[in-house]
Amino acid sequence: MDITIIGAGAMGSLFGSLLAQSGQNVLLMDIWEDHVNAINSQGLGVESDGKTDRINIPASSNIQKSRKSDLVIIFVKSTQTEKAAVQALKCLNDNGLVLTLQNGMGNADKIAQKVHPDKVIAGTTSHGATILGPGLIRHAGIGPTLIGMWSGKNNTGLANIKNVFCNAGIDTTIEDNIHLIIWKKLIINVGINAITALTGIKNGKIIDSPPTGELVRAAVKEACDVALAHGIKLPDDSAEQVFAIAKATGPNRSSMGQDVDHKRPTEIDAINGAIVSLAREKKIPVPVNQTLTALVQTLQENYK
Ligand code: NAD
Repeated sequence: MDITIIGAGAMGSLFGSLLAQSGQNVLLMDIWEDHVNAINSQGLGVESDGKTDRINIPASSNIQKSRKSDLVIIFVKSTQTEKAAVQALKCLNDNGLVLTLQNGMGNADKIAQKVHPDKVIAGTTSHGATILGPGLIRHAGIGPTLIGMWSGKNNTGLANIKNVFCNAGIDTTIEDNIHLIIWKKLIINVGINAITALTGIKNGKIIDSPPTGELVRAAVKEACDVALAHGIKLPDDSAEQVFAIAKATGPNRSSMGQDVDHKRPTEIDAINGAIVSLAREKKIPVPVNQTLTALVQTLQENYK
């Protein structure tokens, strides 16, 4: 299968490396030239369990260049999704599909606006990865990947992609209600990301302090109310699920925490900010998410 990955940072490089090693024809596309040059000259370094493998995969920073692909995977941060979707359209062959496994809400809709809605696969992954430097990533965690057609319409290409992923060691399941799956992941990020980013704490710390735990519960409750108003019933124990993930990832800084630590733009608009936007449509007050969103936006606008 010809696969183009747009956004070959931590996750794009990880998926690219697994797919390329299983024999797929992968091209990594990224605007970060040092990273692309390092991959092309030395191979992509993937560190796992203290051992680094070098994998030969072609990479390109010429994002105007198109290569017709059966599958385009978008793995830019959610702030860059629209640009990546424009690129994706140039790279798709007639029956090609676009997959997003990005965090946050709104990515699949933005992609659907640029390519045809029936061509969009959305999903979540519990794999984790970190960029260590140009041409070098760490595979930090392994977990399931869930995918489904965003439009809900059957597409025979989906089962083929699942098989290609499973053959690459990416444990993948097809989900009928991918909207619910994305909401469930969003709730985890709503509960953990902004609070850890603003306070500098690691994920596990949100369980230790009662006031922090209350804040998490309040943010999650608002998000569940907004989901319900949009026809999505989330589990009653959603806050407990957030605490369970926070415990399981206790020593980690959340991705938004890491973005703030490195003074990078965060995905706040697609996470707590998405709750605020979706609440506005239904005239639901969400003061906790509004405050968290405004504080993170203020922080990132005032990086020194
Ligand atoms: P990252 O910052 O490591 O990688 C993003 C890459 O996109 C960067 O290398 C950047 O140069 C590139 N990019 C930006 N604009 C581009 C454009 N127009 N064209 C091509 N490339 C472009 O981010 P990441 O950690 O890999 O995360 C990607 C997405 O996956 C995010 O939505 C994140 O929330 C989600 N996610 C991350 C993890 C994780 O463990 N890192 C796990 C699950 C989901």
